Amino acid sequence: MGSITLKNVSKVFGEAKVIPSIDLDITDGEFVVFVGPSGCGKSTLLRLIAGLEDVSGGNILIDGKDVTAAAPAERGLAMVFQSYALYPHMSVRNNIAFPLKMAKADKAIIDKKVADAARVLNLTDYLERRPSQLSGGQRQRVAIGRAIVREPSAFLFDEPLSNLDAALRGTMRLEISDLHHQLKTTMVYVTHDQVEAMTMADKIVVLNRGNIEQVGSPLDLYRTPRNLFVAGFIGSPR
Ligand code: ADP
Ligand code: MG
Repeated sequence: MGSITLKNVSKVFGEAKVIPSIDLDITDGEFVVFVGPSGCGKSTLLRLIAGLEDVSGGNILIDGKDVTAAAPAERGLAMVFQSYALYPHMSVRNNIAFPLKMAKADKAIIDKKVADAARVLNLTDYLERRPSQLSGGQRQRVAIGRAIVREPSAFLFDEPLSNLDAALRGTMRLEISDLHHQLKTTMVYVTHDQVEAMTMADKIVVLNRGNIEQVGSPLDLYRTPRNLFVAGFIGSPR
């Protein structure tokens, strides 16, 4: 569970062809990073996968099933928003439990899933606090916890660390990588930060003006960038 396939996916906003046509295979369990300069279409591509935007053309398959016309909630994916998307008046416990309560899950199941997520994220001692009583990194972990309890087939992250200071970004990079090792769930991670891409990805997708310039492992892109754009962006000595 957790493979994502894009076939000839395009997106037009008015006159602007933001994504001309993209083909991409994401394998179950992969950590894939979409990287590229601001405005190149990273968020749009992620939102198309999530179903938050409709494609203008092409098809999206999740685990082999065509979800192009499916609503976001039917896709089995969880989008992790930035930490400020927490509910300030709710405890950490209730923030994490929120999707399960919305789905009217049993209390015993909610309690277990929240406890499991809290353990993975080292939030066990913070469950009764409010978001305002947490550090930025802890708040980000709560936002991830809210995604984990839904047991998605893939996590979608859009620049989740961009609001954090440099030191905390470094810590959270390691924590998200560690989470991937623990859960082994597909993660699609959008960033404009080359360091995040190079240190976190199994596979990097370099985007430029809505087109894929190159797909490969961090080492592939570093050693054999296909063109000057990739070389310049990744910082290869070419
Ligand atoms: P990135 O996340 O890589 O910075 P985006 O996907 O947000 O880029 O945006 C890609 C392009 O699409 C930009 O030129 C942006 O202005 C445009 N765009 C994004 N969303 C919309 C929208 N809802 N309506 C019109 N244009 C949009
Ligand atoms: Mg963006």
